[in-house]
Amino acid sequence: MKLLLHACCADCTIKFLAAKEDLEVEVYYYNPNIHPRAEYLSRLKAMQKICGEAGVKLIVADWSPKEYFEAQNRKGNDSRDKKTRCPRCWQLRLGKTAKIAAENKYDYFSSTLVSSEYQDKETIEKIAQEEAKKNGIEFWRPENVDCKMETKGFYKQFFCGCVYSLQERMEEKYLEE
Ligand code: SF4
Repeated sequence: MKLLLHACCADCTIKFLAAKEDLEVEVYYYNPNIHPRAEYLSRLKAMQKICGEAGVKLIVADWSPKEYFEAQNRKGNDSRDKKTRCPRCWQLRLGKTAKIAAENKYDYFSSTLVSSEYQDKETIEKIAQEEAKKNGIEFWRPENVDCKMETKGFYKQFFCGCVYSLQERMEEKYLEE
């Protein structure tokens, strides 16, 4: 059975791949939220390294920040507030992955967002199930992800991804000093 895995960082991808059971996984790097481009490329390079080592196919979508900001700028959002900002970001990436998976006859789609210890997994899964229904494909969630697994040898990010999270992290660091 084939699964298309949306992935945004190498660390969570390794943890997901360790929990994939007997599924054949292909990785889809679709992350228009990541800012700036240098950060996007650093994460992509890490992804290429670990997918190469694991013998996993990596599909790289175009980097189009416009898609992310259009999703953020729809009515009713305050991008400074994670409660409205993040669900739009998850919906964009999960929705596109579900669509591509359905169009290309994968059996399932999933996302490393559900193997990250830093994300709101419950809301992400709810959005993923909505996108699964909308696109006519099943969402698959790994049961036993080891979030504490030690990984090394590639670039690791220090903020979630978008320009807002970068600003928040810089402010936190400034206050820590
Ligand atoms: S903080 Fe992370 S999940 Fe939330 S909008 Fe930014 S990149 Fe997306």
